[in-house]
Amino acid sequence: MFLKKLVRSCVLGVKNAPRGGQALSAAAARKQHSQAQQQGTPVSSIRPETSSARTLMDIGTRRIFNEDHDIFRQSVRRFFQEEVVPHHKEWEKAGQVSRELWEKAGEQGLLGVMIPEEHGGIGGDVFSAAITWEEQMYCNCTGPGFALHSDIVMPYIVNYGSKEQMEHFVPTMTAGKCIGAIAMTEPGAGSDLQGVRTYAKKDGSDWILNGNKVFISNGWMADLVVVVTVTNREAKTAAHGISLFLVENGMKGFLKGRKLEKIGLKAQDTAELFFEDVRLPASALLGELNKGFYYLMNELPQERLLIADMAISSCEFMFEETRNYVTQRKAFGKTIAHLQTVQHKLAELKTEICVGRAFVDNCLQLLSEKRLDPSTASMAKFWASDLQNKVATQCLQLHGGWGYMWEYPIARAFVDSRIQPIYGGTNEIMKELIARGIVSQK
Ligand SMILES: Cc1cc2nc3c(=O)[nH]c(=O)nc-3n(C[C@H](O)[C@H](O)[C@H](O)COP(=O)(O)OP(=O)(O)OC[C@H]3O[C@@H](n4cnc5c(N)ncnc54)[C@H](O)[C@@H]3O)c2cc1C
Repeated sequence: MFLKKLVRSCVLGVKNAPRGGQALSAAAARKQHSQAQQQGTPVSSIRPETSSARTLMDIGTRRIFNEDHDIFRQSVRRFFQEEVVPHHKEWEKAGQVSRELWEKAGEQGLLGVMIPEEHGGIGGDVFSAAITWEEQMYCNCTGPGFALHSDIVMPYIVNYGSKEQMEHFVPTMTAGKCIGAIAMTEPGAGSDLQGVRTYAKKDGSDWILNGNKVFISNGWMADLVVVVTVTNREAKTAAHGISLFLVENGMKGFLKGRKLEKIGLKAQDTAELFFEDVRLPASALLGELNKGFYYLMNELPQERLLIADMAISSCEFMFEETRNYVTQRKAFGKTIAHLQTVQHKLAELKTEICVGRAFVDNCLQLLSEKRLDPSTASMAKFWASDLQNKVATQCLQLHGGWGYMWEYPIARAFVDSRIQPIYGGTNEIMKELIARGIVSQK
């Protein structure tokens, strides 16, 4: 209970909570302190950027955050270390995490972090939500689909839902008692969303839903699914005839297929969903009829930035993991960190990660000011997820044969990286979106 209050107070920005985390070495901190005094800068306002921090995962760094965020980050880090890391192997075998984990995350205020309090969320800022994404990658555990639930699915309900829909779903989602998913992709329609076939036909005031979806994250455990559906086959373009529906687990005709066997994200319950004459009341429509495609386009930049931030965080984790490894592994009588080729590789990787971090932090700032445009979000998603795969390949290489062994964290990070350039819109589609802006601006 106390921890819950502490976490809530951290997220909401209450001052005077105990300070946590250490960022700088004592010497570096003293140097900054005396420089600040000379310049008359308040010491608390100095925060090193990632490039000058002791490690890339330090608490107390980056100018987008403040001390309240640091306290929150410390509690989130503790949560992942205590509640997720010890169970992740068992969840990888099960192909899903436990329901209990979701409820614990809810109790500790880690779900719906940036959903306004008046709508049933925690009421934190974008940066607090980003801390939950980043800390999950820092513990190298991709099982819990918290980010998708909190920062992709919940915003649809809050931004387009009715008062009744918000009151019904948002508080239970914040509590981790109702797990959310979003179903866009179908076996025959992924990148080309306008090709969806799932169809809802009007029947009195109800709708009858038929179709199927594939690759749905949180799909097996989901209690609530936002389903992308055709509602007007005669619309002037497909985009003008798409609507979103809220479909609940247990509705007659809503069936879940198998949990899909993937090469990575082993503890994540990705599933197929089937809708066979599911009768939906009028109240299941989310937002306005035939506005679904427009809503999707509005929400995708946040989804893409979330992927980018998680990608850079994974790079930071892999870099530190590899730095530790090369300073311990011996070859030819010395640690391999003594080899200049290894040192140069680490120098290149650190530089690229810090360049990526600067861009993504800037995007987080833009998102917090509601100024993140779709093209910039696409740049972040494509560049950061490609970098993540490059870093994964090179860090695994620096581990030699041990990097290929599942017992080494870099192996899991490597396979989990591979999905990032694919979902949330493939990186080829990201380039299409960026290019469109370039050509049309001329
Ligand atoms: C683990 C996992 C989790 C997922 N989670 C979800 C989820 O929660 N909800 C959801 O709705 N979906 C989800 N997806 C689906 C994901 O978003 C799609 O797989 C992705 O958008 C690509 O669609 P596709 O697989 O049909 O590939 P396709 O669209 O068939 O693409 C195949 C290839 O063609 C390329 N291509 C296609 N069109 C173009 C073009 N115009 N220009 C250039 N290249 C092009 C693509 O880039 C790709 O390389 C998930 C997928 C996976 C694997």
